[in-house]
Amino acid sequence: MSFVIQPSEQASVAIDGSVERFPVRRIYCVGRNYRAHAIEMGADPDREPPFFFMKPADAIVENGSTIPYPQKTKNLHHEIELVAAIGEGGRDIQEKRALDHVWGYGVGIDLTRRDIQNKAKEMGRPWDMGKGFDNSAPCTALRPVSEVGHPDTTNATIWIKVNGETKQKSTLNLHIWTTAETISYLSDLMELQAGDLIFMGTPDGVGPVMPGDTMEGHIDDVGDLTIKIA
Ligand code: MN
Repeated sequence: MSFVIQPSEQASVAIDGSVERFPVRRIYCVGRNYRAHAIEMGADPDREPPFFFMKPADAIVENGSTIPYPQKTKNLHHEIELVAAIGEGGRDIQEKRALDHVWGYGVGIDLTRRDIQNKAKEMGRPWDMGKGFDNSAPCTALRPVSEVGHPDTTNATIWIKVNGETKQKSTLNLHIWTTAETISYLSDLMELQAGDLIFMGTPDGVGPVMPGDTMEGHIDDVGDLTIKIA
């Protein structure tokens, strides 16, 4: 195929212990998937079915990177999250088959320009500019299901430290919607395809990061993520 301009590079994420990479097609994110986080955001966790937003595939940032403090915000927030990588697509996927569609898992940060997101909520406008900006999706190298199993069927711990101080800490079994339920629900809305990532939602304790800060994220058995803000 020939293009009139140079096509952009295929977005991708590393694979743990491999030189091969995982090509990223789309990044889906689950909103408010921990009760305590839903409450800190002023929502009622009992009455809401899962909802989704997206980030562009090229918002992915490699583990170990230093990223610039983003434009047009004074309130950049960390949200530490499990990332599920889809290896086999499908639509209307049944919950009991849903985990067969997962290739592997990583540790991600759903970076959020909270001031822009809050303004959008207030005005009934889309969240895109608060969530889907450049470098807003740091993610570790993925580990395959054959090595890590399905971490949110366990009580694996998830945490993030900023400059060595723990800011968020919880367990994956506290997801309101499990990875299986989320895949099933999302695949009724959109056809999932191999290469899609799902950021599974963050526990309570979200808060700001500043220029010069170092974020260290962790999920038991899945990985460790270090991202610095320039
Ligand atoms: Mn999030």
